[in-house]
Amino acid sequence: MDLGIGGKRAIVCAASKGLGRACAMALAREGAALVINARGEAALEETAAAIRATTGASVTAIAGDITSEAGRAAVLAACPEPDILVNNAGGPPAGDFRNWSREDWIKAIDANMLTPIALIRAVIDGMIARRFGRVVNITSASVKSPIPSLGMSNGARAGLTGFVGGLARQVARHNVCINNMLPGPFLTDRLRSNAAELAQASGRTVEQVMQERVRTNPAGRVGDPEEFGFACAFLCSTHAGFIVGQNLLLDGGAFNSSMG
Ligand code: NAP
Repeated sequence: MDLGIGGKRAIVCAASKGLGRACAMALAREGAALVINARGEAALEETAAAIRATTGASVTAIAGDITSEAGRAAVLAACPEPDILVNNAGGPPAGDFRNWSREDWIKAIDANMLTPIALIRAVIDGMIARRFGRVVNITSASVKSPIPSLGMSNGARAGLTGFVGGLARQVARHNVCINNMLPGPFLTDRLRSNAAELAQASGRTVEQVMQERVRTNPAGRVGDPEEFGFACAFLCSTHAGFIVGQNLLLDGGAFNSSMG
């Protein structure tokens, strides 16, 4: 299937590794011209080179913290009029909410709620004027099924989800579609480090924790970031103009529900 996004301009935030990288690769395979971002310059440049080599796409790498004003300004300067925006950033740390200060909360809300909203605000009117726009926010399965130790993630991402639910319906008539993708367990550095933390806290090995994840997932495995990327590319395609304000859960069926 031709996704119809050849030549479209895409910003993919937090894209040197993991899910962001997979989304960038999938969009590039479809011919989109990319601006990708992450804080660490070396890994970002490596990813940009790998995407160029694999797809032949134009890839501009902008190193910087997307949760900072300066980081966002640099990304937007490199791509002021994107057709596609993939919002992503690192997730907040786990822990006991009794230990979290106001500053900790503000940091989480900044990264996982206010940063995507700021980027959407910067690009949405251009998308409306050009009558094409696709925004995908990478959130988490924890939006539907809260993970007790990830309280800041549960809270901040739910805030973004509520805002986006309203905005998506205000802009859909202009062929601007905003949706969220909710990853369950995908095999990335983030999953490995979460497993390491859990292993240490529970006196098990990382291998045991990972095996349990696999065993308890209905699909009998964890997710491959590449399949997340393909789903993202479809949501960004010209064929996805009637998919509006949805929360697409990609978790192998781990969320136990007959509907939704
Ligand atoms: P990952 O493999 O650790 O990759 C994170 C990427 O984001 C890296 O490229 C990292 O590069 C970049 N990044 C982090 N903070 C950034 C910032 N402030 N500014 C710019 N770039 C930043 O993580 P992942 O598994 O792909 O996770 C992506 C998102 O999905 C996270 O929010 C995570 O919490 C969420 N999630 C993941 C899973 C999962 O199973 N993997 C499940 C649920 C939710 P630098 O460090 O160099 O900046």
